[in-house]
Amino acid sequence: MASATYRICTLPGDGIGPEIIAEAKKVLSALGEKHDVEFVCEDHLIGGAAIDATEAAGGTVSALPSETLEAARAADAVLLAAVGGPKWTDTRVGAVRPEQGLLAIRKELGLYLNLRPVRMFDALVGASTLRPEVLSGVDLIIVRELTGGLYFGGHERMMGVEGAGVGGARGECARDILEYSEYEVDRVVRWAFDAARRRRGVVHSVDKANVLDTSRMWREVAHNIAAEYPDVTLEDMYVDNAAMQLIANPAQFDVLVTENTFGDILSDEASMLTGSLGMLASASLGDGTALYEPSHGSAPDIAGQGIANPIAQILSVELMLRYSFGMDDAADELAAAVTRVLDEGWRTVDIADEGTPAERVLGTAAMGDRIVEALG
Ligand code: NAD
Repeated sequence: MASATYRICTLPGDGIGPEIIAEAKKVLSALGEKHDVEFVCEDHLIGGAAIDATEAAGGTVSALPSETLEAARAADAVLLAAVGGPKWTDTRVGAVRPEQGLLAIRKELGLYLNLRPVRMFDALVGASTLRPEVLSGVDLIIVRELTGGLYFGGHERMMGVEGAGVGGARGECARDILEYSEYEVDRVVRWAFDAARRRRGVVHSVDKANVLDTSRMWREVAHNIAAEYPDVTLEDMYVDNAAMQLIANPAQFDVLVTENTFGDILSDEASMLTGSLGMLASASLGDGTALYEPSHGSAPDIAGQGIANPIAQILSVELMLRYSFGMDDAADELAAAVTRVLDEGWRTVDIADEGTPAERVLGTAAMGDRIVEALG
């Protein structure tokens, strides 16, 4: 009898989803055996696969059937692959689209924080557009507030009145409201401090406090929290400077925490430091079950060929072990196994280059097997 049992709601979705999630399950089963933990994975439908199934059943067509949502709520964690594909690109008003499943599950689970780690694997340093010496030692996480700020404030378009409004506006005007409560800021920044405590102990809080009141409040909240964490160093940084520093000296960052819009932009910028989409995992955490997924999409162009890179999906398991199950040792072992496999020169086709010998290029399942083998 295992010392613990964790129930994982697995959502293979569309395209390469079923292929890469199969490799994540192999890894979970190997780690479970090693650490005397039982991971019970149960597949459910989301995205295009859910649209097809609900359509065939003749009921309400949905990209997130209620059984999937129930299963996600009841599980200890959700492991998602990706959704979408050309089969479901119907743009007619009212058409159900796969991406609606994604937005709905994030909302229903109350996921208010997104976490994107960016770690440089030395073996892949050549895949980036930046110089290797800039990238050496990069290992950061971006913590982004996910459900507040500009994207969720009021949006309005109105006719301007000459002499009034923005710059004595003539013609049409538009307004988007940026609003945050102390509570929304506190829960995200506090999470960043807790994460930093388990890492290298540095938080960069990114804002635009020289211009915005929301940023000034953000900064105050961050400093109040910092007083409770004497072992963590807090650095304030303006967002424009952060955008430059991520390119100029990314190794200085440990945990970078910021609001929704800034985080959206900075996390995409940071993800390109590594230069390969097939390597980036992400997590969304909040009130309900946490959700882990690769940062890439369903790659319909290579679906079914057995060549997709499963590493981003496997690294999303690393995040799950760390942040949902508190299994840091197992997470470290998994990260080390991926590093070892890459150091030995094994590649999937998307991360291979001219110098990679053909016999070192693996398919999806063979890459999963190598990583399991490296776990020992
Ligand atoms: P994509 O990320 O699926 O693919 C972009 C390119 O990267 C493609 O050439 C693809 O083959 C390659 N690629 C992606 N992941 C790979 C992997 N693991 N291994 C090897 N190569 C990989 O983005 P896209 O082509 O813009 O979108 C395809 C579909 O995915 C669309 O329907 C889109 O809406 C959807 N999508 C879903 C998510 C999600 O589920 N979170 C995110 C982005 C896009």
